[in-house]
Amino acid sequence: MKHTLKIMIIPFLLMGIMTSCEDKLSDNSVFPDSIWPDTTKSTYAFDCWLRDSYVSPYNIEFRYQLQDESTDMSYNLVPAGFEQAQITAHCVKYLWLDVYQKQVSDPNFLKFYAPRIINILGCPAINAAQGTETLGVAEGGYKITLYNMNDMNEWLPKDGGKVNVAMMNKYIFHVMHHEFSHILHQAKSFPKEYEAISGGQYDAQNWQYMSDVDAYRMGFVTPYSRSEAHEDFVEVISSYITDSIGQWKERGFEFSEDNTHLIGFDENLDGTKIINQKIDMAKTWLLEKYGITLDSLRAEVQRRQDAMTYEIVMNN
Ligand SMILES: [Zn+2]
Repeated sequence: MKHTLKIMIIPFLLMGIMTSCEDKLSDNSVFPDSIWPDTTKSTYAFDCWLRDSYVSPYNIEFRYQLQDESTDMSYNLVPAGFEQAQITAHCVKYLWLDVYQKQVSDPNFLKFYAPRIINILGCPAINAAQGTETLGVAEGGYKITLYNMNDMNEWLPKDGGKVNVAMMNKYIFHVMHHEFSHILHQAKSFPKEYEAISGGQYDAQNWQYMSDVDAYRMGFVTPYSRSEAHEDFVEVISSYITDSIGQWKERGFEFSEDNTHLIGFDENLDGTKIINQKIDMAKTWLLEKYGITLDSLRAEVQRRQDAMTYEIVMNN
């Protein structure tokens, strides 16, 4: 199953995400014959770090060199720069791998469920004809492709400048938590009752024409959530984990004192009750099926986001 996450880039349309699915299975091994880095390459030290941080513990290949076979040739794409690749790899470890490894008691959880390949590219993937931008693509839980990584040094500046967590969430972590949640619900399905919460409100054809505020009013955390119940479910989990209190505030929500529920302070946002119902169901499902406490996962991500600097991430 292939998921393509997109946003509209036509100025008068509000942000949304879109998906398409196709079956794609391969028997081929994703790894080269040897996992031992080539000592003659200038990338040797980084390749050793990837072997020790991604391949050995989790059986994940972090693919940073552009390869024809793993590149969508319908886009004009460039590879990620070497420095940008290093920042991205450290960042994904700091804000994604290490978080799940810390929060899940089963030490083999990531080895079993994480995508086998994380593939990165340097520039955005623009769909000029449709006026959309592809943020990331996931193929059957096997490979996740992230775009626009050549801006990483601006989002996580070396000189101690302001860290742009929102852009990293947009291009990396919202995509990764979204796709990873798909992998998890494909392995252990979520309750049928979830689909009934917004039952008649889903609209696969017209979700992208809805504003963010209208989405909240109807009980969706993003316009794309309205496209279909499975997308709704993973958007709830991903937004809950990655988005800061400030981002929720901009949308018209505050967190309850115990930090576990949303409170809508705008009287027009009457979807709050529905969104909380969805969050509660996601929490119960993650705990019962995987032993994951969503609030702890969120707290760990938020703590790391608030603390992150270039030095912390690169020394991690
Ligand atoms: Zn999706």
